[in-house]
Amino acid sequence: MFPSEQTDILENPRKRRSSVFLEMTRSLCSKCLVVVDAKILKTADDKIILRKWCPDHGFESCLLHSDANWYFHAQKFNRPGDLPLKFPTEIDRGCPYDCGVCPDHEQHMCLGLIDLTDACNLACPTCFADSDGSAHLTMDQIKASLDGFIEQEGVGAVVQFSGGEPTVHPNIVGAVKEAVSRPIEVVMINTNGIKIAQDEDLVKRLVEVSENKLEIYLQFDGFTDEVNQKIRGAKMADLKMKAIENMLKHGLPVNLAAVIQRGVNEDQIGKIVEFGIKTKGIRGVNFQPAFFAGRYEHDFNPMDRVTNTEIMDRLEEQTSGMFRKTDFLPLPCSHPSEIAMTYAYIRGKKVKPIPRFINMEPYMDQFTNTIFTDPRPIYKKAIEGLWSASSSFNSVKTLYDFSCVCGIPMKKDFFTEKGRQKIADENAFRIILIQFQDKYNWDMKVVKKCCIGFAMPNGKTIPFDTYNVLYRETHEVRHWQNGNIPNPIPMPMPKANGFIPANGQNGKSNGQVKQDLEVNHE
Ligand code: SF4
Ligand code: SF4
Repeated sequence: MFPSEQTDILENPRKRRSSVFLEMTRSLCSKCLVVVDAKILKTADDKIILRKWCPDHGFESCLLHSDANWYFHAQKFNRPGDLPLKFPTEIDRGCPYDCGVCPDHEQHMCLGLIDLTDACNLACPTCFADSDGSAHLTMDQIKASLDGFIEQEGVGAVVQFSGGEPTVHPNIVGAVKEAVSRPIEVVMINTNGIKIAQDEDLVKRLVEVSENKLEIYLQFDGFTDEVNQKIRGAKMADLKMKAIENMLKHGLPVNLAAVIQRGVNEDQIGKIVEFGIKTKGIRGVNFQPAFFAGRYEHDFNPMDRVTNTEIMDRLEEQTSGMFRKTDFLPLPCSHPSEIAMTYAYIRGKKVKPIPRFINMEPYMDQFTNTIFTDPRPIYKKAIEGLWSASSSFNSVKTLYDFSCVCGIPMKKDFFTEKGRQKIADENAFRIILIQFQDKYNWDMKVVKKCCIGFAMPNGKTIPFDTYNVLYRETHEVRHWQNGNIPNPIPMPMPKANGFIPANGQNGKSNGQVKQDLEVNHE
């Protein structure tokens, strides 16, 4: 019988996979934190997922992006990183055990975080720091962290005080004073706003010492007590408004920072942006999809996590297109999968996102730039300055870049503090989306380009994406207080016999492959 006579000749007995394999990366097993190989896949419903396998714990998957088209679009904005002035650590055991930053890190640190304290006056169920301590950094440790970071980054560094709740540090005013007296361009405080709302005198004292370099990142997850109760564990909608009132009254610039949690506050995204735009003195909003570190492990399905692309979609729906997904561009200095942002030029009631009146691609696409002769290098510089994690409307440079891109004339009053503040308050607005890494979505490509790091009193800076997953437990403030920081940090070891994890960290193989593992193939 000829093959053509077979009735089932056209039927392929092999099944096709339901996803397209895009590339390999390294990740962590979410159970034992061992480094494992991982695949990045595009699913049939146009999502990007991470799929990994651990010898001991089998397969697991995690959603990375809800929109594969955005992911593909974003990749071309990846640009070469800048070298820091100094690498505080050496390459020894391999990533992620040499933080940092070690010479294998692909980017300098745009933003240095300093945890001032383990203590907090809230107990948020979403707290990635799991703050419930009582230890504070000493002033000497704060100064050492600042000096180490400046030595690494040079003049113009940007520093954010965090914690715990930094305003419960007994000398938060002194910490700000130390920071602004150094060659630091912008100092931020990342706060829940309780002290700011309750203690107006603290706001005044902060402003007095700030030398106009200070701005506040206020946790602001939505307008209802219900949202606050679920995310922060307390009804505090009115208190947030009081905090904003106190800051604006004393001219302290505010950025709102919202954690977006599945089923809790996706419906608040548009309202938060609209509120920020109409409130003079609020400079922008940072949205952060909830990530699973510290205390936040409840109600969690890694395949149904909120992503940056989902926030863009919600924002477009909820603002009737005031902002669209196409208005967002990835931050090219970090890995383009992690941070996206946009700026809008506000004139009265008109809101114009910058990418609607400038074709950004020739200025930001590194591949295009190799053949593109830019007619306006000054624009390129300004756009690069804006699309950076260290940009801030409190910085003269950022405001200059913004004015240049938007065509705001440099009148005499631009060169006064008051004139610049007027532009920042009335004409400028910024939205940042940051999708941080946890033990589920951890992607070593992204981690190696992370440009936000924790500056430590010993002069090291540990990238945010490794700190929360691997270093926080051993590097929190209480350990600095007790002087028992492990160096180097312990490496998780796989328990399975016969496996050499891909980074070779557990020694010898006996050549056997484990057979009894429950494998969950697609
Ligand atoms: S995350 Fe960066 S600093 Fe840390 S070990 Fe890896 S390459 Fe080095
Ligand atoms: S998230 Fe911030 S405010 Fe909430 S408990 Fe943690 S440190 Fe405190």
